[in-house]
Amino acid sequence: MRCRLSVHTLPVLAAQCVLAAAFSPAQEPRSTPHRIAVVGAGAGGSSAAFWLSKARERNALDVIVDVYERADYVGGRATIVYPYDNRSLAPIELGASLYAPGNLDMVRAVAEFGLSNTSFGIGNAEVDGFWDGKTIGGAAGDGQFIARYGLETIGNAQVAPQTVVGAVGSLYAPTRPVWNTTSALVNALNWAAMLSSTGAEFYTTQNVSRLFIDELIEALSRANYCQDVNKMHAIGVTIGLATTGAVSVAGGNRQVFENFVKASGATLKLNTEAVQVYSILPAGGRWILKSSAGVRTYDAVILAAPFHLSNIALPPSFSSTIPPQPYKRVHVTLLTTTSPSFNTAYLGAQNVITPPTSVFITLNATRRPGGPVFNSLQRLAVLNGTGKGGKDESLVKIFSDEVLSDAFLDELVGERGWTFKHTWDAFPILTPATSFPPVHVAKGLYYVNALEPVVSTMETETIAARNVVDLLLSEQFASGICPPGQELASNATGFVYGWDC
Ligand SMILES: Cc1cc2nc3c(=O)[nH]c(=O)nc-3n(C[C@H](O)[C@H](O)[C@H](O)COP(=O)(O)OP(=O)(O)OC[C@H]3O[C@@H](n4cnc5c(N)ncnc54)[C@H](O)[C@@H]3O)c2cc1C
Repeated sequence: MRCRLSVHTLPVLAAQCVLAAAFSPAQEPRSTPHRIAVVGAGAGGSSAAFWLSKARERNALDVIVDVYERADYVGGRATIVYPYDNRSLAPIELGASLYAPGNLDMVRAVAEFGLSNTSFGIGNAEVDGFWDGKTIGGAAGDGQFIARYGLETIGNAQVAPQTVVGAVGSLYAPTRPVWNTTSALVNALNWAAMLSSTGAEFYTTQNVSRLFIDELIEALSRANYCQDVNKMHAIGVTIGLATTGAVSVAGGNRQVFENFVKASGATLKLNTEAVQVYSILPAGGRWILKSSAGVRTYDAVILAAPFHLSNIALPPSFSSTIPPQPYKRVHVTLLTTTSPSFNTAYLGAQNVITPPTSVFITLNATRRPGGPVFNSLQRLAVLNGTGKGGKDESLVKIFSDEVLSDAFLDELVGERGWTFKHTWDAFPILTPATSFPPVHVAKGLYYVNALEPVVSTMETETIAARNVVDLLLSEQFASGICPPGQELASNATGFVYGWDC
């Protein structure tokens, strides 16, 4: 390696030169077994390790996988907390809560790993209050719902979610697309038009009324992605509409990802941050990964974390191909209260017969000066006897754009028992887009989270990871998760590519 340094390239190149000198191919011959690094142990990284292990099993590959995770747990944005930090109580999801019945990797994982589902505290409580920033209105109950929006709009609004769910379903089939770039997948699924329009624009063309868009679709968009229907692309909006029957894993969704890593046989390096990845050869090929635990050479590296949040330095020729991607900062407040209802005066709900248990906001609430105070406010479960004097408490989850002060929480819910606040860089800001990050960044370097600007869910990250593993296997072993030439049992009931071959 020739090391020419300039002021601009100095930090990165200097490190590369030093490390390349220490780990040149002459000193460390091409490895057998084949070594693969996965950066990140969330849904994407843990499932990448799992898919690699499935391929190793079926193709008798000599592959060793290291999973680097800077946190002290597996699961990333899927993690739990215990009310009062009391492990005898059921935990509550702090990040990703819901998965839908059509999320076949999650469904299959729950079955294969002997887990079960729960509806405890998952955030799909019945929406019974739409808040416009001043009063509670909207529609509760089927009668009012139909009277307010009309059957035609309600029917029209269901078409796109069914189509999008159908398109995602095609990704489990033997005939699924394999994509090198996110744009290729977008084209294969016929999603370009929806991705380049806002949800409001798109649903207007679907003959969905403005009232329904501004109230119900906005409410779900804010509840799911904390973003507005008139700013977020139509795929993001539609994913938020397709959560009928959603559940979470009893004891925490992250158990799926822990089981993926365990079943994979990969070496899990917790509390270990990847700081730099670079190639020995200018065109890619073998990779050096520098982490907080040292330096190691790999035949392939899978990035399974949002690149711009990972603080990983890549050679500029590769990092420049990944466009900047802002993430939505979301504040989650969990609390318990013995109060029977939220502050109806604050919510303008004095005249509502049954005080709302879940409040989602309409587009009007976003128009008030300073924006909405919260994105969603949900009473999720009852905790028996945890309150003062052994009273039952309600468990409440609030999503907001700003940290909620204790004074505001007191005003909104009254007496509080336990309160827990956490801030996430939660999901990409899903503005309409026409270009997307590469998946196959260079020879031996792959990017799972390239899919997130299109759709950001636990399930789609497992699908993106499976695609990356197929790309890697094709490039490095002329193989796939399923052995090449094997006829896939596509007609088998419940066939899920990767789990089944
Ligand atoms: C509040 C909230 C609610 C959500 N609700 C839902 C929902 O209901 N349903 C749903 O399906 N999805 C939901 N999501 C989205 C979902 O969590 C994500 O789409 C998905 O979990 C992303 O998985 P991932 O593995 O790609 O990324 P992550 O989960 O972010 O995992 C990346 C991992 O990489 C690690 N990492 C980062 N940089 C480095 C580094 N340099 N070195 C080593 N490790 C590194 C991180 O610590 C992290 O563990 C929600 C997210 C949030 C925050």
